[in-house]
This record gives sequence, C-alpha cells and structure tokens, in this order.
Amino acid sequence: MSVPPAAHRRIAAEEAYAPQEVIDEYLRLLESGGGDRGFESLWSYYLLNDSPHTALFRSRITDAGDRRIADMDELGIDHQVLSLTTPGVELFDLPLARELATLTNERIAEAVRRHPDRFSGLAAVALQDVDFSVRELRRAVTELGLRGVIVNSHSRGEYLDDPRFEEFWATAADLRVPVYLHPNTPSDQLIGPLLDSGLDGAIFGFAVETGMHLIRIIFSGVFDRYPDLQLVVGHLGEALPFWAFRVDHFHAVQERTGRYPLRPALRQPPSQYLRTNVWLTTSGMAWAPAIMFAREVAGSDRVLYAMDYPFQADANEVKVHEDLPISPEEKRYLFEEGSTRVFGLSITRR
Ligand code: MN
Repeated sequence: MSVPPAAHRRIAAEEAYAPQEVIDEYLRLLESGGGDRGFESLWSYYLLNDSPHTALFRSRITDAGDRRIADMDELGIDHQVLSLTTPGVELFDLPLARELATLTNERIAEAVRRHPDRFSGLAAVALQDVDFSVRELRRAVTELGLRGVIVNSHSRGEYLDDPRFEEFWATAADLRVPVYLHPNTPSDQLIGPLLDSGLDGAIFGFAVETGMHLIRIIFSGVFDRYPDLQLVVGHLGEALPFWAFRVDHFHAVQERTGRYPLRPALRQPPSQYLRTNVWLTTSGMAWAPAIMFAREVAGSDRVLYAMDYPFQADANEVKVHEDLPISPEEKRYLFEEGSTRVFGLSITRR
C-alpha cells in the first residue's frame, strides 16, 4: 500500500544510511573474523545471506538519492534525517575509522545539498578517538550543516558515561546539537545469554544494550553538568519509560541508604530527565499502546516519529501513527514540529 499525503509533513528521524565503502569494510571484517560477536551475528545476516529481504536491504542502505526518494514517496515520507547505520565505524581500527566517519559526513552533506527538502543528516564520529570525534562533530555541524551526531551505543565495549568522553558531551552542548543514541548489538561483556537464544539483535538485545546505556548516561549526571544537552533515543526510549517508576523508587532508596557513595547525586529523579533532556522516537515501534504510554510518561512534546528505514520500511506502520487517537495538532507535532525543534531543521512547512 502507499500512504496518501497528510496536512503535515512526515519527517522520519532515525533513517539509516551507509556509504558503499563502509559496507565493503564490514564485509572485509566479517571475512577476517574481526569485529565483536554482535557485529558478526547481525551483519553476517545482512551481508552473507542471499534472501530477497537482505538483497533489497543492501540496495537501499547505500543510496542517498533517487532510489531512496522513490521509496520515501511510496511510503509517504516527506523527509528523512539520515544517519550512519549501526554499528558505525568504531569497530574499525584507526585511521580507517576516522576516514570512514569523514567520508560518511561528506556523503550525507552532499545528499542534503542535492535534496534539502528531502534530507537532513547527523554526523558520524569515531569515538575510540575522542579528539578526532570532537573536531569532526564541530566541522560537520559548522561547515557541513549537519544537525546533530549519532552514536551507535557502545564503542568497543565502552559507554558514554566514562569520563574520557567528557569533551564529546561538552562539544555537543556547546554546538547546541542533539546526540542520537542509536542501538548497537550488545557489547561482548553483555551479549552471551542473548546471543545463544537468538535475542541479540533488534528483537530484544538492542533494547537491553541501549536502554542500559541510556540509564548509565542519566546516572552519570551529565545532564546536570550540561542542562541544555539533548539526547534522542529510538524505539520509544528502549523500554526505559516502562521502568520509570521502579528506577526512581530504587534510586531514592539507594540514595537514602548511601549504597553507592561514589555515584554523583542527581538534581532530580532519574525519570525526570526523560522530560527535560531526552527525546523519544517511535522508530520500529509502530504500536499505539506503546506510543501512547511513552507520550504519557515522557510528555507528548518529547515523542517524535521515525521509521527505521531500511531495517523497517512499511507503509502500514505510517498508517498506525496516522490512526493514533490524538488531535491533528498533536499529529503535526509528532510527525513534523518535534523533529524541526530538536534538530533545528529549516524545511518548509506544508
Ligand atoms: Mn535504527
């Protein structure tokens, strides 16, 4: 089916792209047995498998032009915010990781220049080199016009609450651009029981990995150090909204009993940061009960539409969002105004 145009623009906020050069290096890594266990599981499926599903995926992910725009027209999507696919470039050695992050940013910027009404983009970085990442983020935003930065969860098993990433947070805050915390397959420390049950990928492991990463970031106090810093998270917050009550409850108990004395004190209950510093996108979660619940917990002004193309590319999922029991103004916010605000987009309003 195709979806008819609406009174609002449909902006999809978490849409994956990879230059062919990155896919070629993923293939090389698979063939050499490099990368981590999650990468091998996920990308051997997409790259070493000749089903019609994976062949279609491969033809879609490397395109940032006419091929993709034809799909967007068919799916009823006006505008995509492009970002480098998971797991990004962090699993490559230096200097290759730096070269491929830079190449990705050039390609995304070129797509945006050619089709400014159809595409915006987020910067790729290579977080095993924080100095490079900070410079590249600044260049991508100030010179290439990209509107934020994507981090595909752990970087070689390291999480963003580690003090060595402080300059990265400081730079995003200084540039006033959001950080999109996108899933990755769980790190090698975490993946064991998920892998042997086939739960390591988007089915569940992404949320285990990324939900845990999100809560570690919140508990690190980074949003107290940079109160204006904004984080965007897909999949309706990787289950964190559902856990909000219990997290707040036991966080308060732990604080009262002094159980984790080295952890920084937070200025507000952990779940409150969902309302002040975190935006949730509906990527891959086209399901009305979950969307309505996330809106209730985090605030309707914090929930944005995303498709998760080309991992998910289904017009029926757009229709689920169009059929939500919310007003036309709220729908315009979900599809258009929220993304325009958080990413600072300047595309023409329909
Ligand atoms: Mn995604």
